[in-house]
Amino acid sequence: MIGKDSKYDVVIVGAGVSGLFMFHKLRNMGLSVLVIEKSDELGGTWNWNRYPGARCDIPSLEYSYQFDEDLQQEWNWSEKYSAGPEILEYLNHVADRFDLKKDINFEEEVVEAKFNEANSQWSIKTSKQEYQTKFCIFATGCLSVPNKPEIEGLESFEGELLHTATWPRDEVDFTGKNVAIIGTGSSSIQTIPEIAKDVNNLYVFQRTPNYSIPSNNGPMDTETEAKVKERYAEFRKENYLNGFGIASDSGEALISESDLEEVNSQLEENWKKSGLGFFGGYGDIPVDVDANEVAANFVRNKIKETVNDPETAKKLCPEYHIGGKRLCVDTGYFETFNRDNVHLIDLHATPIEKVHSNAIEADETYEIDTLILATGFDAMTGALTSLDILGRNEINLRDQWKEGAKSYLGLGVRNFPNLFTITGPGSPSVLSNMMPSIEQHVNWIADCIGWMLENDKSVIESTKIAEDEWMKLVNEIADMTIFTSTKSWYNGSNIEDKAKAFLPFIGVPVYTEKLEEITADDYQGFIFDKSN
Ligand code: FAD
Ligand code: NAP
Repeated sequence: MIGKDSKYDVVIVGAGVSGLFMFHKLRNMGLSVLVIEKSDELGGTWNWNRYPGARCDIPSLEYSYQFDEDLQQEWNWSEKYSAGPEILEYLNHVADRFDLKKDINFEEEVVEAKFNEANSQWSIKTSKQEYQTKFCIFATGCLSVPNKPEIEGLESFEGELLHTATWPRDEVDFTGKNVAIIGTGSSSIQTIPEIAKDVNNLYVFQRTPNYSIPSNNGPMDTETEAKVKERYAEFRKENYLNGFGIASDSGEALISESDLEEVNSQLEENWKKSGLGFFGGYGDIPVDVDANEVAANFVRNKIKETVNDPETAKKLCPEYHIGGKRLCVDTGYFETFNRDNVHLIDLHATPIEKVHSNAIEADETYEIDTLILATGFDAMTGALTSLDILGRNEINLRDQWKEGAKSYLGLGVRNFPNLFTITGPGSPSVLSNMMPSIEQHVNWIADCIGWMLENDKSVIESTKIAEDEWMKLVNEIADMTIFTSTKSWYNGSNIEDKAKAFLPFIGVPVYTEKLEEITADDYQGFIFDKSN
């Protein structure tokens, strides 16, 4: 059993995409590394979110690791957008191929991390034991703490209660059941078409409608795959040149400078083949409200064309800027509302009053067997504030972030020396293809630790000035876009008592450039070996 010798160079918390690669990288540097994972399986997102229909909405050829040429050449994806189980199989393949599993402590949850000023070590307390480590890396995910809504009577429900983010491993049988689903974000939009086929009745409780673009998913086009594989390394570089980190998507034309008829025919083409790329298909959709409205209206018209009942179609049409809430990608979502057994309940008109032992009460009382919460996550900060992380002078990260999370580059936090976060607040993270963003952070952290060892530095910490200026930049950029004017989990609006602060850095290329500049300047904004 690992962990008996409780002193490590590095402890990594989490064994998802981030934790697995971080572990591989640091172990190859000859460091003693422990990975701690609360689940009994690796895979993070793809282990927890096993709901029917779960799949990535970034093409698999880019939603995959690039760190090993043989791996990326040899692995074949079966579809353009892979289903959750295939991604999980891939992550298990990676773990086997690089012999990672045996050095991960599963079923162990980190409950406290405490910095000891006297020896500059972290004490990591888990559900099982305690470890000492020099560096501590949180690979705990941006979307890993489920949001469980407070709805009166929820605890009294006696039917089957499910959350998309903690879906059971055994298949759930919906045959002939009356099922309610609360929420209409990406998870719900993927689940609904799948379960609608089996249920007796499906009641969809919608508070805010979402924009969704058809995935046009299908078997992997082997010609495309071969072309990408011929130049995989070059192709991956394109991830870092696109605003949202999607290599296959780059539209430079502007709606504001184009003929409207041409725009509509281009949007039609993007609707048919681009998925998430629909949003970046024109350069001004994310930044110009008028251009954004053209794209938004295009999607509203598609919804109205697809959904037979005009009242239902109207309720499914969002009014805010397209992209303001995370854009969804679906397989037959709007079409599902043409089924007789699928019913849309508009919570704006009549909110949920109460959950009873066998029913939900809103505009009327719906008797149900199963209730699915598709209510999202305490995003970006939840996995860092739901445990006690105690830095200098025992300051708790949760308290330091009370008025809004602040980080330098999404990698380091002042008062928390030798602690790194992968895809932390202030980095492109959730507003990017997360695979290349994760690899960028893992490589940076490994290089930084390597540089410290070479240069005889033992403690790294970001400064308050660097952090303040960085978050100012994050907000200045966000204010130039449509992202800040909509209530969304990007700005904490989905969690009642959470600070309302916009957290992702918008623009992968600018971020990449800044990161490289800062690193080349001997990690400007970080201080090393500050006296205690
Ligand atoms: P996670 O996968 O969240 O892994 C974190 C791990 O840390 C988990 O295994 C968790 O159990 C563990 N952990 C957390 N806290 C503790 C603790 N205290 N102690 C011990 N272990 C702990 N991104 C994209 O770019 N494209 C997509 O198509 C896409 N689809 C998504 C679909 C869904 C349903 C969801 C929820 C997210 C999706 N994402 C997508 C974002 C996705 O989260 C990332 O792409 C990526 O998988 C994150 O990997 P990670 O390792 O950083 O975090
Ligand atoms: P989400 O986007 O936050 O959606 C949650 C839904 O629940 C929203 O419709 C929300 O309504 C609703 N809701 C929350 N609390 C409620 C309450 N008390 N009463 C009624 N409705 C309530 O969460 P998600 O769908 O799990 O997706 C989260 C993110 O994970 C996505 O944005 C995406 O980044 C990622 N993801 C990606 C994919 C993919 O396609 N690859 C799939 C799933 C998830 P309001 O909008 O009104 O708050």
